[in-house]
Amino acid sequence: MSRQKIVAGNWKMNKSLQEAKTLVEMIINQVNDFDEVTKIIIPPFPFLDAVNHLISSKANFSLGAQNCHTNAGGAFTGEVSASILKSVGCDYVLVGHSERRQFFKEKEADFILKIKEALKNNIRPVFCIGETIHERKTDNHFKVVTEQLSSVLKEFSVAEFSKFILAYEPVWAIGTGETATAAQAQEMHAYIRNIVTDLYDSNIAAQVSILYGGSCNPQNAQELFKCPDVDGGLIGGASLNADDFCKIIFSF
Ligand code: PEP
Repeated sequence: MSRQKIVAGNWKMNKSLQEAKTLVEMIINQVNDFDEVTKIIIPPFPFLDAVNHLISSKANFSLGAQNCHTNAGGAFTGEVSASILKSVGCDYVLVGHSERRQFFKEKEADFILKIKEALKNNIRPVFCIGETIHERKTDNHFKVVTEQLSSVLKEFSVAEFSKFILAYEPVWAIGTGETATAAQAQEMHAYIRNIVTDLYDSNIAAQVSILYGGSCNPQNAQELFKCPDVDGGLIGGASLNADDFCKIIFSF
């Protein structure tokens, strides 16, 4: 079964407009011909339109957003809806990122509404899950990931779930320089695929792309991407540097 291979760059709250354009141009120059991997660029909201103009005619590049609101539109000052994101070219949106959970106190109920809005607007959710260091040390990581997945997926049909990308991001590895070993990543990705089989069926479980995220870099990407159930990476820090991001893309 060949699954969509994806490398997504989550720039978080970094870069100026000019820096964003330069970074995208440098990435395009290096990897435009490597079209077997879907490259998703996830810049801050104000740069979406400019990035979209640069990537829209390029081979297997897509635009993603870091967040969307739970509502379709209206009086929500400072927020951005899925339909606004679609209008500037977004095909993907991050939902459930650990920073949204930690700093913005987002919960399952928010993720469900956000994903419903995304799907209504033909935007594919990249749904992020993963345990904290305490949860891993107390041997609760499988239980936590099971709950994170099942509490949200129970609200979605198999047809809706077929649009999902999953990202396993152990919180202890995000932005820390500490990466899950390939064995730890493979173990959890295979486990996640089994949960999807239990919640839906084995066909959809075999099809869903599951990305690894957490201090993925040019040195460790190849080993991680070799794992049979790791279908790519959600990259934070290393996506801010064109050479590093492209080396990760070439690690397949
Ligand atoms: C992330 O924030 O999704 C992430 C994986 O960050 P980093 O690569 O910097 O750990």
